Amino acid sequence: MISIKNIVKTYTTGDETLVALDNVSLEIMAGEFTAIMGPSGSGKSTLMNILGLLDRFDSGTYILNGQNVSDLNDKESAKIRNKEIGFIFQSFNLMPRMSVLENVELPLVYAGVKSKERKERALKALERVGLSDRVKHKPNEISGGQKQRVAIARAIVNNPSVLMADEPTGNLDSKTTVDIMRIFQELNAEGTTILMITHESEVSLYTKRILTFNDGALVDDQPQKSVYKGAFA
Ligand code: ADP
Ligand code: MG
Repeated sequence: MISIKNIVKTYTTGDETLVALDNVSLEIMAGEFTAIMGPSGSGKSTLMNILGLLDRFDSGTYILNGQNVSDLNDKESAKIRNKEIGFIFQSFNLMPRMSVLENVELPLVYAGVKSKERKERALKALERVGLSDRVKHKPNEISGGQKQRVAIARAIVNNPSVLMADEPTGNLDSKTTVDIMRIFQELNAEGTTILMITHESEVSLYTKRILTFNDGALVDDQPQKSVYKGAFA
């Protein structure tokens, strides 16, 4: 599903150049649930922003679902991003003036889906994350865990082929974290491919594979042998 080869990404500030990703190659297959780990500053977010077509890279190749997406312009990448990728941020990034339902409908507005179908699909996505009773609320009227569930509903409403999440539980308490990981495990069991950054090893236990980064390089790639099943017990 995702294949990158020899990705290099540098940031230049003034006359200093920093290598954020140093020749990274990896493959993600459909159906995987993968954690990206590593210390702060190791390049995790940079990698996910590139994989999510939110940022460009200096050199290397990126193939997404068989299509070379290495050299797209902004318009082309926005189109593919909207179709193929659901992105979830640590800080939720909800629109404060819009209701929960309107927030979830937003990607469908961009995709040109008509109002009635938009509403139906958004309601279904909200039901999927257990938020049917909060559709009219504004983001400041719900809890952090509920905000993140809205963000998940928004990310899945387009049926993306891959869900990407950058520290999705970084702002949540441990009980809420478990709730969010259960939703991820259920979505994965239903076939959604998930790629998630986390620095918490307990959170990585919910995944099937752990990629570890250090100093912009992929230093370890391990199956997560004892995938935590407690969620389904
Ligand atoms: P992580 O998510 O693992 O904490 P990042 O991908 O955010 O790491 O950052 C990797 C490196 O790139 C860090 O040294 C960071 O300071 C640097 N960096 C990230 N974004 C920028 C930017 N927009 N401009 C300059 N340097 C950046
Ligand atoms: Mg980061």
